[in-house]
Amino acid sequence: MRFPVPALRPAPALLAAAVLSIVGCSDGDPPSAPAAPSVPAADEAPSSPPPRRAEHLLLISIDALRANRLACYGGRAGISPSVDWLAAEGVRFSSCHAPMGMTLPSVTSLFTSRYPDETGVVHNQARLDPREWTLAERLKESGFRTRAYIANGVLRPGASGIDQGFDAYERIYDEYKMTTLAVDAIESGFGAEGRDFLWVHYMDPHQPYDRREPFATEYLGAYDGPYDAEAETLDRIFVEKEALAPRDLEAILAVYDSQVRYIATQIGRVLSALETSGRAAETLVVLTADHGEELYARNAYFYHANSLYASVTHVPLIFKQSGTVPKGVVVDDLVELVDVMPTVLAHLGIEPGAGDAVTRARGLDLHDAFEGAEVRRGDALAQLARSVYALRTPRWLLVDNPDGYVPRSVPEEGEYPIAAVELYDLERDAAERLDVATAHPDVVEKMRRRLEARRRRLVETATEKQEMSAEDLEELEQLGYLGDK
Ligand SMILES: [Zn+2]
Repeated sequence: MRFPVPALRPAPALLAAAVLSIVGCSDGDPPSAPAAPSVPAADEAPSSPPPRRAEHLLLISIDALRANRLACYGGRAGISPSVDWLAAEGVRFSSCHAPMGMTLPSVTSLFTSRYPDETGVVHNQARLDPREWTLAERLKESGFRTRAYIANGVLRPGASGIDQGFDAYERIYDEYKMTTLAVDAIESGFGAEGRDFLWVHYMDPHQPYDRREPFATEYLGAYDGPYDAEAETLDRIFVEKEALAPRDLEAILAVYDSQVRYIATQIGRVLSALETSGRAAETLVVLTADHGEELYARNAYFYHANSLYASVTHVPLIFKQSGTVPKGVVVDDLVELVDVMPTVLAHLGIEPGAGDAVTRARGLDLHDAFEGAEVRRGDALAQLARSVYALRTPRWLLVDNPDGYVPRSVPEEGEYPIAAVELYDLERDAAERLDVATAHPDVVEKMRRRLEARRRRLVETATEKQEMSAEDLEELEQLGYLGDK
């Protein structure tokens, strides 16, 4: 189903109002009506909307971008000037984590503020339940024009359901062309006729690793083999667990980095267009990634789908808008991708919206952190399929694999062993190399209880999902919101 179906719990009158507000802006014209208030949860008292700090939203996400390859996160100098500029102009979260090392589950969490176990999207072949409310739907409901340019085929229109709520949603393989379309969208009246949302999702640091010139030649220097960054080579290294000399590993990373540098150039084009459009002062810019990349950090593995360690879960997160977002602030508290949506909605003056158990946003509004207050959650959750879970606190990382699950992804012959339980002391071992589970059984127990409590809450929420009533379905059908559109 292309168009959103409202949440299940609101009273029928509110449900109809919500549907009608969507109908009212579904004709393709930018709506001029003021933002309609979202439907409050049946069990929550209505509250006034938060103050509106930005009119428009530009969301830039980059696939498989490991945070610490960017210069502003500790990567090589000069690799990411546009992103570094954004960070210097806004708030940079130094410790944001994704819930999975896989595109669709993670992007779904970004767009719903809910964890994979709640949305049921735990692999790339899943389809987003149309009953979930996405960021795009909430913005559309509030009168935004919603457009997206996407490079990753996993997110292609119609397949994943992540396009629900978008007026226009296009997948473009060539990222230079995709950037040109985004630049055109900004230069041809972004924000001129009403509130605007533009999402641009880059693919490039993702496998296969392509040499992006002139950066690859610059980063490779005098290296003349024997290794390259071809998929065949990286598969063989993973399957055979080849030990790489530092110079060979650096050569492979140089190719990955050449892609990061290339994408930073494209992002620079988009940001420049916004700055010269006259809309930058009214626009919140958010930059993040769906997940990182292992890059040989463990098990001789380069990619992401098998892992739930920091190399894969740690993602960049930057907010920028002159005048409403502090400049040059770095927040070190642990935050999660699910926190992006509540923060964005609050910044745009929009209530989180229909908050029944099926669609309630899980994330935190991070605005307090902009001003130096502590983010209250204190931990971050990640998972592999429905089998392995990881809970991270500032001090510890627990990995719980009770069934001995062995992830097998690209190529299937490669083994990525994970122990039944692993514990890392992040204060002494930031690289997560030394499993200290046997030395700290008390910490393992405590972390397990904390993990179980968090998981239990998610499972309870997920199982509360139910089919819409026949009455609600009929109402929606009459309004034309069932069936393919
Ligand atoms: Zn991805």
